[in-house]
Amino acid sequence: MIQPRTHNRILLVDDTPEIHGDFQRILGPQARADAAIDALEQALFGEAPAPAPPAQTFRIESALQGAEAVDMVRIAADSDDPFTLAFVDMRMPPGMDGLETIEQLWGADPEVQIVVCTAYSDHPWAEIVARLGRSDRLLLLKKPFDHSEVWQLALALTQKWNLARQAALKLDELRSIADRANKDLLEQIKRRAEVEERLRFLAYHDPVTGLPNRRFLHERIEHCIRMGQRSPEFKYALLYLDLDNFKLINDTMGHDRGDKLLQDAANRIRSCLRALDGVARVEEDTAARVGGDEFIILLEGLRDYSDSARVAERCLQVLAEPFLIEGRELVVRGSIGVTSSERGYDRAEDVLRDADPAMYRAKGLGKGQFVHFDPAMHEEARRRLEIEGLLRAAIEQQNMSIAYQPIVDVKTGDLVGFEALLRCHIPGLPGDTMQLVQVAEETGLIVPMGRWVFARACSDFASWRTRYPHAGALRLNVNVSRRELVSEDLLPHVTEVLHRHGVPPGLVSVEVTESGVLTDLAEPIKRLHALRELGLQLHMDDFGTGYSSLACLHSFPLSAVKIDRQFTATMTHDSRYIAVVNAIVTLCHALNMRVTVEGIETAEQLELVDSLGCDSAQGYLFARPMSPEAVDQLLGRGEAGMRLAA
Ligand code: C2E
Ligand code: MG
Ligand code: MG
Repeated sequence: MIQPRTHNRILLVDDTPEIHGDFQRILGPQARADAAIDALEQALFGEAPAPAPPAQTFRIESALQGAEAVDMVRIAADSDDPFTLAFVDMRMPPGMDGLETIEQLWGADPEVQIVVCTAYSDHPWAEIVARLGRSDRLLLLKKPFDHSEVWQLALALTQKWNLARQAALKLDELRSIADRANKDLLEQIKRRAEVEERLRFLAYHDPVTGLPNRRFLHERIEHCIRMGQRSPEFKYALLYLDLDNFKLINDTMGHDRGDKLLQDAANRIRSCLRALDGVARVEEDTAARVGGDEFIILLEGLRDYSDSARVAERCLQVLAEPFLIEGRELVVRGSIGVTSSERGYDRAEDVLRDADPAMYRAKGLGKGQFVHFDPAMHEEARRRLEIEGLLRAAIEQQNMSIAYQPIVDVKTGDLVGFEALLRCHIPGLPGDTMQLVQVAEETGLIVPMGRWVFARACSDFASWRTRYPHAGALRLNVNVSRRELVSEDLLPHVTEVLHRHGVPPGLVSVEVTESGVLTDLAEPIKRLHALRELGLQLHMDDFGTGYSSLACLHSFPLSAVKIDRQFTATMTHDSRYIAVVNAIVTLCHALNMRVTVEGIETAEQLELVDSLGCDSAQGYLFARPMSPEAVDQLLGRGEAGMRLAA
C-alpha cells in the first residue's frame, strides 16, 4: 500500500528575500498550529474522514534565481524526494524570468506543480497559456496575495501531486502484478505444450530407442498403400528385422544392458536408411521398433525393388559388427524378412503379416540372413505354431522317448557309449528331431524337454550299468542346448539326477553346439566350467557347421570334438575337407581332446576317418539310434554285443 507523503517539498523561486520569510511563516512548521487555517482546511476539504489522513506539512526551500531553482528541481527529481510544488515569481532580474524558469523546471521534472506569482503589470494569463500551454499543473496567484490563498494552493496542489503519484505507483504495481501473472501464464502454456509434445511423441515412439512405434508405422504403411493405389508406379518395401541373440543377452545380462544394446542396434539400423546415401529418390524411410527385439524398416518410393535387398544387406552388415556393452564385445546379428508392394497389399496388417514368416525363414537358414516373402511361408508359419502346440502337449503328457545311438571306437569297433536323442510321439509332430528342437529352442520349451531327457537317460543308463556289469565303462552323451545352458537350474538339476541314479559324473558327456556356446556371453561359459567341475565331460557337437574357428577350441574346457555329419558326407569326394579334418584331429590331439566323427554311413568313410586318426565314430554303418529295449537286447548279448564292427 502506497502511503501519501506527509512532508512535501515546496520550492519558492523569488528574487525578493523578504517574500521567502513570508512563505516560511505561512507554510512553515509553526503554521500548522494555526487553528484558523485548520478551520479553513476543513471548509475546503470537508470533514476529515476517519481515520484521518496524516496531517500535511511542508518543507519550504528557497531559490533566488530561476537557474538555481532548475538545478534544485533536477537534483530532487533524480532522488526519491522530488519537489511537489514551486511558487515562481514572474520577474527575477537579472536572471531568467518566471516563464522561462517554469519551462526549464518542467524540463527537469514534468510532474512538479507550479504556481505563478504575478502582479497585474506582468504577463496576462492568455500570454502565459500561449507560452506554456494549457496545463492542470499550473495555477496563477496574483500579487499582492492573501495568506490563506497561499495555504489553499499549497495544500490543494501537494494533495493533488500526492494523489497523482499514488495513482502512478499503484498503476506500476498493478502492471507488475499483471506482468508476473502473464509470465506465469506463458510459462504454464509453454510447459503444457511441452507435455503435450512429449505425450504426442510417446504415443508414436518407442521410449527406449526413440524410434517410431508400431502405431506410427501402421499409419506410414497405410499411407504407402494409398500412394500405391493412386499411382501404380509407387513402390515400397518392408523389412522385418529380428535380433538373433537378443533375448538370451537380455535374460543373462539384465534389462539395462539389454536396453543399451537395443539403443545401439537402433542407431545402427537408422544409419542404414537410404536418406543417408541416395540409393534412390527417398520419399521417407522409417525405422520403427515394434517389439522386444523386433524392428521394421519401411522403404518408401523405391526406384527399384532390388534396393530393398541392398538396405537389408547393409543392416545385416552393421549388426554383424560386435556390440561393445560395458567393455564386453557381444555378437548379436539380425535376421530379416522382406516383403513389398509387388504383392498388391490393401491392408497394413497384411504387409506386416507377410514379413513375419519371411523373417522366420531367414532365422531358420542360420541367421544373419534376409529372405523375401513367398506365400508358401504362411503354411510354414502355421505349421510352426502347430508344432509348438503339439510339443507342449508332448511335454505335458510325457509323450516322449529317447533313442540311443551307439558310439564306437574307430580302431576296434568296440562300443564305447551311447548318445541320447530325443523322440516325440504325438501324431502330427514332424519326425525330424532337428526341426522339433529348433522350435523348442525358440519357444523355450527345450528347457523342460532337456530336463526330462537328462533324467530319463540317466535312469536308463544306471539301470544298464546295474544289469550289465560288462558295460560298466560305457559312456552316456546327452545334448544340451544353448537355452538350457543359460537356465539357472541346470546345475542343481544335473547334480540331483546324477546323485539320484548313482551315475558317476565322469561317465557322462554333455554335447554342446558351437552356436550354443556364445563366446561373448559369460553365463554359458560359466555353466560349462561348472559342469566340468562337477566331473562331466564336454563335447563340442556339430563341429564345422557354426561360425567359430579352431581358435575357439581351447577357450572351453572340452574333452572331445564331434565332426558334423555334413562334413563326413563331403569328405569322401572333396579332398580339401580331408585336409581340414586332418588339421582338426592334429589340433585336438595336441590339445588333449578326442575326435568323434558323426554320420559314418559307408566303410569307405570309416576307413578314411581311421586313416586320419579320428578316435570314435557314430553312424548308420554301425547302428541307427535305437530304443532302450534294443539297447537292452544289445547289452544282453554280453561281450558280443559290445563289438559293433562295421
Ligand atoms: P546331433 O546331436 O548331431 O545328433 C546326431 C544326429 O545325427 C541325430 O539326429 C542322429 O539320428 C543323426 N545321425 C546319426 N548317424 C547318422 C548317419 O549315419 N546318417 C545320418 N544321416 N544321420 C545320422 P536326430 O536324432 O534327428 O537329432 C538331431 C539333432 O537334434 C541332434 O543332432 C541334436 O542336436 C538335437 N537333439 C536331439 N536330441 C536332443 C536333446 O535331447 N536335447 C537337445 N538339446 N538337442 C537334441
Ligand atoms: Mg549330439
Ligand atoms: Mg552332431
